[in-house]
Amino acid sequence: AYSTKTHDLVVIGGGPAGYVAAIKAAQLGFDTACIEKRGKLGGTCLNVGCIPSKALLNNSLFYHQILTDSKNRGVDVDPKAVGLNFKNFMAAKEKVVNQLTGGVEMLFKKNKVTYYKGEGAFNSETEVMVKPVEGLKGTVEEEVMLKAKNILIATGSEVSPFPGITIDEERIVSSTGCLSLNEVPKRLAIIGGGIIGLEMGSVYNRLGSKVTVLEFQPKIGASMDDEVATTTQKLLKKQGINFKLQTKVMSATRNGDIVNIEMENAKTGEKESIEADVLLVAVGRRPYVQGLNAEKIGLEVDKKGRLVIDDKYSTKHPNIKVIGDVTFGPMLAHKAEEEGIAAVEIFKTGYGHVNYNNIPSVMYSHPEVAWAGKTEQELKADGIEYKVGKFPFIANSRAKTNQDTDGFVKILIDAKTERLLGAHIIGPNAGEMIAEAGLALEYGASAEDIARVCHAHPTLSEAFKEANMAAFDKPINF
Ligand code: FAD
Repeated sequence: AYSTKTHDLVVIGGGPAGYVAAIKAAQLGFDTACIEKRGKLGGTCLNVGCIPSKALLNNSLFYHQILTDSKNRGVDVDPKAVGLNFKNFMAAKEKVVNQLTGGVEMLFKKNKVTYYKGEGAFNSETEVMVKPVEGLKGTVEEEVMLKAKNILIATGSEVSPFPGITIDEERIVSSTGCLSLNEVPKRLAIIGGGIIGLEMGSVYNRLGSKVTVLEFQPKIGASMDDEVATTTQKLLKKQGINFKLQTKVMSATRNGDIVNIEMENAKTGEKESIEADVLLVAVGRRPYVQGLNAEKIGLEVDKKGRLVIDDKYSTKHPNIKVIGDVTFGPMLAHKAEEEGIAAVEIFKTGYGHVNYNNIPSVMYSHPEVAWAGKTEQELKADGIEYKVGKFPFIANSRAKTNQDTDGFVKILIDAKTERLLGAHIIGPNAGEMIAEAGLALEYGASAEDIARVCHAHPTLSEAFKEANMAAFDKPINF
């Protein structure tokens, strides 16, 4: 026995893709429902992703700077009097997660989005069954059949497993377990030198773990500009993180409280083994469609498990669209949110747009690393002629006053038109500064356009202006 409800639009998944789409749809006048099985809204991002990781990054930096950087600033701190209360450190993270997930629930109420706590599964092209989730507080009491003309799939992603390694979320953890450890591990090994691995490595390195990053590729940072990746590695190494590149992990086994990791040099085949107290497996994420019953309505999945869509986010059924991590494109929260808006606008008007050439990436290490547009290696591969402008933070007055001068801004412009093609920043507040590059890229600004905009003094963003000056002419302060 089940009840039946009808809505204009049903959204499956309440992450950044789904919750933003649901709110936007309600604002556009759709009677909208959102199904989420986690018990909390906000998806991976708010619960076990962007938000908790940034809380740990911020507070670990605070702790580390008190211990290592106070004296340089004329603040005497007795290191023996500074203690890490790890339980409260984790509680501070939990607090923001709860505030933000609760905030989304309030936004649903405010915008009159109907929220179903349960698991959604397709019954037909216009019907989704909501099933209660066992043990979940507030879950639907009985199955509810939702009928809707329009359906949006936003079921997100899950941690990719590493073949042969069993994640127990205690000693061998995914990012989820790593965000909720019970104590600071003496030795933390990380498989994967991508953004998630390096952010978690930064957190525990600051808290005193001996961190070793094991990466198969000859470089860290995945899609980062090569030069920036090299500098990032150098700076993280200076902070105490140990890197083993071109290293192929063969196996990892837990023996009591210790994890034994066997690996091989990818070039020489030389074997090596290390021990760790915790091993983080951070080799990426994969689309999540489990329980969705997508096959029942014939939805297509590609080799990487992504739901296949056209340029209007539509599956083979035009009334069923897909957005966020579960389909093509970078697995990023802001990309998912943009798609949420665009897909709903297409439902409403037939038109909606995301500029996939202008999706920023940020790594929230210290210093931060942020980029948008093309990398130098991409421009080379595409045979595009370009010019480079660089400006180091050591020559920026605000970075000097802040005693935070590592890094640089690197600007790539078209050799002829001098239009901005890419911006790569490693330095303090890079993640905020990249928004300026985003605006410039979106409106086709040239380096001179940017350089002629008056930037406040003294600010870090003057480094962005001067790197643009350097790209088409000369900087003033370097
Ligand atoms: P998700 O956030 O995964 O949400 C999907 C939701 O759908 C989930 O809550 C799931 O429970 C629900 N669901 C799935 N199937 C069903 C079903 N059948 N019925 C009901 N509900 C269902 N991105 C950034 O941009 N910046 C960052 O700093 C950043 N940091 C990250 C750090 C970590 C440690 C991790 C793991 C990820 C990070 N990300 C970051 C990536 C970001 O979290 C994702 O890109 C984003 O959450 C994708 O949003 P989504 O809505 O597509 O999917």
